[in-house]
Amino acid sequence: MTNLLDLQPDVKARQGECVPVLLPVALDQTYDYLAPPEGVPPPGSFVLVPFGPQSRIGIVWDEPRGTPAKPIDPAKLKAVTGTLDAPPLPVLSLRFAEWIAGYTLAPLGMVVRMMMSAREVFEPQKPRFGVTIVEGAAMPPRMTPARQRVLDIASDGLIRAKSSLAQEAACTTGVVDGLITAGCLVEAAIPQKRCPIPEPHHRTIELSEDQERAVMALRAAVDGGTFAVTLLDGVTGSGKTEVYYEAVARALERGRQVLIMLPEIALTSQFMGRFQDRFGCPPVEWHSALSGPERGRIWRGVATGEARVVVGARSALFLPYTDLGLIVVDEEHDGGFKQDDRVHYQARDMAVVRASLGRFSVVLASATPSIESHVNARTGRYNHVVLPGRFSGTELPEIEAIDLRREPPEKGRWLAPPLVEGITETLARGQQSLLFLNRRGYAPLTLCQKCGHRFECPQCTAWLVEHRFRKKLNCHHCGFSLPIPEKCPSCGEADKLTACGPGVERVAEEVAERFPEARIELLSSDLIPGLTEMRRVIERIERHEADIIIGTQLVAKGHHFPDLNLVGIVDGDLGLAQGADPRAGERTFQLLHQVTGRAGRAFARGRGLIQTHLPDHPVMAAIIHGDREAFLEREIAQRQAGLLPPYGRLAALIVSSRDKQAAEMIARDIAHRAPPAEQIRILGPTEAPIAIIRGRHRWRLLAKARRDIDIQNYLRAWLSRMPPIKGDVRLSVDIDPYSF
Ligand code: ADP
Ligand code: ZN
Repeated sequence: MTNLLDLQPDVKARQGECVPVLLPVALDQTYDYLAPPEGVPPPGSFVLVPFGPQSRIGIVWDEPRGTPAKPIDPAKLKAVTGTLDAPPLPVLSLRFAEWIAGYTLAPLGMVVRMMMSAREVFEPQKPRFGVTIVEGAAMPPRMTPARQRVLDIASDGLIRAKSSLAQEAACTTGVVDGLITAGCLVEAAIPQKRCPIPEPHHRTIELSEDQERAVMALRAAVDGGTFAVTLLDGVTGSGKTEVYYEAVARALERGRQVLIMLPEIALTSQFMGRFQDRFGCPPVEWHSALSGPERGRIWRGVATGEARVVVGARSALFLPYTDLGLIVVDEEHDGGFKQDDRVHYQARDMAVVRASLGRFSVVLASATPSIESHVNARTGRYNHVVLPGRFSGTELPEIEAIDLRREPPEKGRWLAPPLVEGITETLARGQQSLLFLNRRGYAPLTLCQKCGHRFECPQCTAWLVEHRFRKKLNCHHCGFSLPIPEKCPSCGEADKLTACGPGVERVAEEVAERFPEARIELLSSDLIPGLTEMRRVIERIERHEADIIIGTQLVAKGHHFPDLNLVGIVDGDLGLAQGADPRAGERTFQLLHQVTGRAGRAFARGRGLIQTHLPDHPVMAAIIHGDREAFLEREIAQRQAGLLPPYGRLAALIVSSRDKQAAEMIARDIAHRAPPAEQIRILGPTEAPIAIIRGRHRWRLLAKARRDIDIQNYLRAWLSRMPPIKGDVRLSVDIDPYSF
């Protein structure tokens, strides 16, 4: 509690000063508290308030009022018990939170909770102590090799933690203690790590003419000092990153903070390295793998303005920027920007909202922009800046379909002869191949050939996926796992359990058999323990320490592998099989384009080979012929005809319960209560595409409306007609669902 400036619950507050405080819980409204004696903290301040039996951290949401918002017995009004020593949330962040809550229908408290993600900010900032050398001290009376190593390392005068000094010198901390006693080392506070300062004029490369033109447009947008959205549209390798770096530099010159958003997985060391080359220091990173103290430090750095450029995943949008002046959303089409739990939001869209509130510029960059952004560019709502070709001048890869109906792989194998040939040739030329399959594990289904038993998750509508390396059967929805069984639990037969279909592990097995001399790297999130290890694998691939790479969508994004020449798609139809989901075509196009785009980026023209049963499917045909326009025309026409986004608005209501009947009954009841409205169609209820997850049965309703209809308003009216939902039934609202 030392972090409180003041802690006196019972002092007399100034009469009539009510402070509206918002709590980070699933509630929309603020609660009134009496102002603390030291005065009224400004809006955005973090305060401690009694809430039920507990004391909780809340946020002063507004200017104080003379009287409570709701009639309440003044004697019952509780007082703010303390003000926390954390930088306040900027007022713009408060308005942003309100906007998001209004749009997503999530409780305001839950949105604000996302802005308080760094708990450590609220903890006292204790200085950490380390040791450093004492200048001019005499040698210790007894010198040992270990002592010598410690002194050698410490001779640079830096302050290090005892443990890290001992570790570096490969000795115990006892040795360090001995040197302190001998007067050679002394304890000292470790200075707080500072955020690096990027240097806008550090550019070393020369931009091409096309790039210069694009840069001019982006700079003009930044200089305009008003809200503007620019779609930066160019094939993979066209030099978009270098272009938007110039916009970043411009915003820095103008003294503004910058946020670069990447889909989580693309926070690669490669990106950080390039940033460092351009700006002379690494950016401030924000993602889920940060430690608690790091989160606290960065949160503060952003709030004080010390952090100038943040590179982060979607949650970086909720940091307390004091003077944000530019957001870049790279790979703007990526599904990773949609968050689908608690607060359902699309971070790309919210970035645009944030920019409009702060009146600055946003850049959306992609080689395969979302249909929404395309349409916005076509209708002139967004500026459209196009980079026509690859920077290196190499052509986009040549894409061919391997028609699995005519040239299937041998039985029990997954690579068709033309793909095997392609890999063989690529190996012979000393280049790298990449095999892509968007499925983790060894096999998506295990069945008993004697009795037909299939291993299914007890809690989800899903088969258990065999993970042979980890010796487990795993559910990809809830994480349930079993050791791989030795015999069939149903008939007891021992050797009839068969793995059906391929996952990346199985493809890796086949590759190892076929190409025993090749160096293989398998990239799958479940096999790589953390970000650091993942970065190591990527670096090994960049350095050409692997000949054949097999990976899930981890490999699809953002990487630049200079010696990669062949990309093989093991199952091109995987995404298209997703039934009625109207975004399936767009997603498949984007994914196949991105993955094949990894081929031949630097020197020679690359090749993409796609194994498919549907070579004539329009999406497949567009990929094979590199005909993006054909794909777009068809997709946009379909969206228009079906009143799908961006021509219409969609919202999904998901009802879930452990009780199958309860879920269905409530869903039907909700459907009956829908207010009549001519311009809104309600579809369902139906079982959700994955009907059971973690033992919860899920039913879904879709509301569909024209673009000019306020669907939130309609939903609010609808939800207000609902009786309180009881028991374990849950209802969640997903505005703009990403897949359905
Ligand atoms: P994109 O973001 O469109 O995929 P990048 O900005 O990553 O493209 O550029 C692709 C490659 O070309 C990178 O290796 C990058 O360093 C290089 N590159 C881009 N522009 C230049 C330039 N003006 N001078 C030198 N190299 C460049
Ligand atoms: Zn499960």
